[in-house]
Amino acid sequence: MRLILLGPPGAGKGTQAQHLVARYGLVQFSTGDMLRAAVKAGTVIGRQAQDIMARGALVPDDVVVSIVEQRIGEPDARKGFILDGFPRTVPQAEALDRMLRRHGLALDAVIELKVDEAALIRRIESRIAEMTARGEALRPDDNPDVLHRRLAAYREQTAPLIAYYRRHGMLRSVDGMAPIPKVARQIEAALADAATTLKEPPASPRPASAPKPPIGKKSKAGSKSRSKGRAGTRARPAGKAKAQAKPKSGPKSKARPRKRRR
Ligand code: ADP
Repeated sequence: MRLILLGPPGAGKGTQAQHLVARYGLVQFSTGDMLRAAVKAGTVIGRQAQDIMARGALVPDDVVVSIVEQRIGEPDARKGFILDGFPRTVPQAEALDRMLRRHGLALDAVIELKVDEAALIRRIESRIAEMTARGEALRPDDNPDVLHRRLAAYREQTAPLIAYYRRHGMLRSVDGMAPIPKVARQIEAALADAATTLKEPPASPRPASAPKPPIGKKSKAGSKSRSKGRAGTRARPAGKAKAQAKPKSGPKSKARPRKRRR
């Protein structure tokens, strides 16, 4: 299974991705984490990205696309992945389509976490306050000014992806303001529904205005490769809430649920 989690900063993408990793044995690719690892390691990409990230702007598309392309080609990506923080612009989404086609892969779903912006600001500000109180290190872009810029970047550059994926018939929206386990259940239901929809043969030829079907072929589950907890495989701060839902029955996907590895 390959999916995208879409939503503004603080919408809970990281939390839900952790749940999906545990539930379906997917690997999480977080471009934010990959870029932070590059900054820490002082690589060329890291030096390019550092200031841009600190001021809450977006790193150039070609830089991010190249790190994702490299990551998708690695063996552990074969069992399926969650893209968290990518794509963030329409050109990145188009590059992803081309990249997946080259690898003979397709997306199963794009999950939009719908949130209220005012509540989001309160949520992130309280997360910052809690982390500060616990003496945990904050990210350089975890401050109210930069947060507003990150939200503006989302509205201007990332929100158009909602229409993009709706046009492609991939978009599933869930209520990101619900309690964490409920959001997790909504996502599982959306994934089950997407799996059913994708398996149905087209009833008749598509009219020109109909949404395009997903590109490439379906997921191959059951790869034996293992996640190694590398950069881009999201490790959230200890204070971050975790998904608690443990569904009883298996998903429609062929991927088997696995134990959480961290
Ligand atoms: P958030 O918590 O705001 O969702 P992330 O951890 O995903 O943030 O990303 C942090 C920063 O890394 C972004 O503000 C941006 O500067 C950069 N970044 C991450 N992913 C991308 C991307 N796909 N395109 C451009 N910049 C990105």
